[in-house]
Amino acid sequence: MHEMSVAEGIIQVLEDQAVSQNFSRVKKVWLEIGPLASIDSDALRFCFDAVIRGTLADNASLEIIGLPGLAWCLGCGQSVAIQQRYDACPECGSYHLQVTQGDEMRIKELEVE
Ligand SMILES: [Zn+2]
Repeated sequence: MHEMSVAEGIIQVLEDQAVSQNFSRVKKVWLEIGPLASIDSDALRFCFDAVIRGTLADNASLEIIGLPGLAWCLGCGQSVAIQQRYDACPECGSYHLQVTQGDEMRIKELEVE
């Protein structure tokens, strides 16, 4: 499952940050995910709950924040909202869109102790 490796990647980041920022427990993680990141939130929650056992984030809760997808339309020269990578421009119907936001996943904030 793709989300399992994503969850393991998150734990890796938490462990690295625990060393560099000198904390020992993670209580809550806020994660931003764009609609184009191909990550299923429910699957990720399930995997996160599985991989945190026995780690510094044991029992931590996961808050998933959905980011809007944005693209620059070459047809009408403006930034437009999109839901999927190959959407047409909602303004002019052009398919000449360059995705500018929405394919990322990042840890926004941590509650630690
Ligand atoms: Zn357009």
